[in-house]
Amino acid sequence: TCGICVEKCPFDAIEIINLPQELQDEPVHRYGENAFSLYGLPAPQEGQVTGILGPNGIGKTTAVRILAGELEPNLGRHEEEPGWDEVLEAYRGTELQDYIADVRDGDITIARKPQYVDQIPNSFDGNTRQLLERTDERGALDELVERLSIGPVMEQSIDDLSGGELQRVAIAATLARDTDFYFLDEVTPYLDIGQRVTAARLIRELAEEEDKSVLVVEHDLAILDLLADTLHVAYGEPGAYGVITSPKSVRNGINEYLSGYLDNENMRIRPNPIEFEEHAPRSVTRADTLVEYPDLTKSYGDGEFSLEVEGGTIRENEVLGVVGPNGIGKSTFAKLLTGNLETDEGDTDLDLDIAYKPQYVTIDQHMRVDAFLSSITDQFGSSYWNTEIAQPLQLERIMEQNLSDLSGGERQRVAIAACLSDSADLYLLDEPSAHLDVEQRVQAAKAIRRFAEQQDATVMVIDHDIYMMDLLADRLMVFDGEPAVHGRAGQPQEMRDGMNEFLANLEVTFRRDERTSRPRINKPESQLDRQQKDEGEYYYAP
Ligand code: ADP
Ligand code: ADP
Repeated sequence: TCGICVEKCPFDAIEIINLPQELQDEPVHRYGENAFSLYGLPAPQEGQVTGILGPNGIGKTTAVRILAGELEPNLGRHEEEPGWDEVLEAYRGTELQDYIADVRDGDITIARKPQYVDQIPNSFDGNTRQLLERTDERGALDELVERLSIGPVMEQSIDDLSGGELQRVAIAATLARDTDFYFLDEVTPYLDIGQRVTAARLIRELAEEEDKSVLVVEHDLAILDLLADTLHVAYGEPGAYGVITSPKSVRNGINEYLSGYLDNENMRIRPNPIEFEEHAPRSVTRADTLVEYPDLTKSYGDGEFSLEVEGGTIRENEVLGVVGPNGIGKSTFAKLLTGNLETDEGDTDLDLDIAYKPQYVTIDQHMRVDAFLSSITDQFGSSYWNTEIAQPLQLERIMEQNLSDLSGGERQRVAIAACLSDSADLYLLDEPSAHLDVEQRVQAAKAIRRFAEQQDATVMVIDHDIYMMDLLADRLMVFDGEPAVHGRAGQPQEMRDGMNEFLANLEVTFRRDERTSRPRINKPESQLDRQQKDEGEYYYAP
């Protein structure tokens, strides 16, 4: 080997064809002999949002700890640590020079939003108001609370918040601080599209109007595209080394990342491109009916929330996408189908076995991944299961770990595998994209589709990542109404009609990137935005 790779060469090369320039230089930091090394640093800029796009486990947190002045980089030398002056010398003449000088002088303050908001209740006792009031340094809290719709949960204990509420509270708490540097590690998990767009706007306003430096890691490409001014691509071998490239334009950064080839670096980071095939919405063949459900209604308590569902059918072998804001009754509908919840009106004696992956994955028993999965299916370890489930969901590496030690993304992949390994009439996955990186989302989408096709299975997927939905779904069921008050769902419909109805509610249109066909959100009121709205083509514009 060339001495970099611990296991298999990630470039699939015995003879190293093009060793990245960065790896020929010294790293910024190496944790120890043969330990993880980080090459390159992101360059935060005042007044700008800088994005990082890449997988987990390749040094984002390490980079941020360096930029926050918490970790003194050793430039790969362990015997004689270089100290900040030498680090500054190494960065003289780069975008980072001034920033590193400030870090050396102890002049940088930082606010950060952790990746896994589910863990916040473990470290905080108290209610939302108490948490937020501690962070209100800019006097912007009231506006943040208002725009992120946190008002209704201000007096609620942090322990009782849902994932989506925790995510919004964590974003507000971070943006309310008054610091030089803000780092947000994934803003979209558990948020619906409207909330994602709002969060992106608030982050942009902080950078633009307050002249702050903001660094974000985000895997929802449509949102990253809206959010960032410049982008660093991150690549490497998780656990072994990570490389953070020089800044690119957001469009080029995303396109190069997807293509698997970095132009400036002359570097292949993945054997195959991630294709954003521009397919016409799938036309649905007349499949048999799995289940026909009547008009349903359900309300909770004294009618604080009520849901109306128009009767419809779910077809055999289809992937039915379900979209709509949070708190609108999507999970309630799912529970009505399972018979775990009784309807007020409408007979749901459907006699369906449902395998369910909840939105908030809570598997954390003290049990190994392989033991857990083999307890669900006797297919475990078969060549079918290995190729169709374990491989696309990248489970091989984590089989021997304990469920309780898994990261959020790892837990998500195990939970998807567990759901698809069950034997059921209907497979229901709630937000499978949460905490997966871009490549994992595409792999998971493909695995779920193949599963439906090859196992003659029927799958329902609730998700807010619009591109993942497009990749996955044959038809779409759209929920709308007023969150937490009243929800309404129409019948499942074809993708084009469904996307148009859903995006019209949100007043968001998408265009296709010329080079890669990837969907991009149009600027509100731009010419394309107005034209597409006039034509009623919100997503599959010709
Ligand atoms: P990311 O934020 O991209 O998920 P991190 O920066 O947290 O990645 O970690 C990158 C790699 O560095 C991981 O393999 C991690 O195990 C390793 N690492 C992190 N901190 C230390 C440390 N203090 N000592 C040794 N290795 C570490
Ligand atoms: P979604 O899945 O679209 O986010 P849900 O179906 O989970 O929405 O919830 C819809 C509304 O019903 C929310 O306001 C939620 O707080 C409320 N709700 C859900 N379950 C219950 C329950 N068991 N009792 C009272 N209210 C509930």
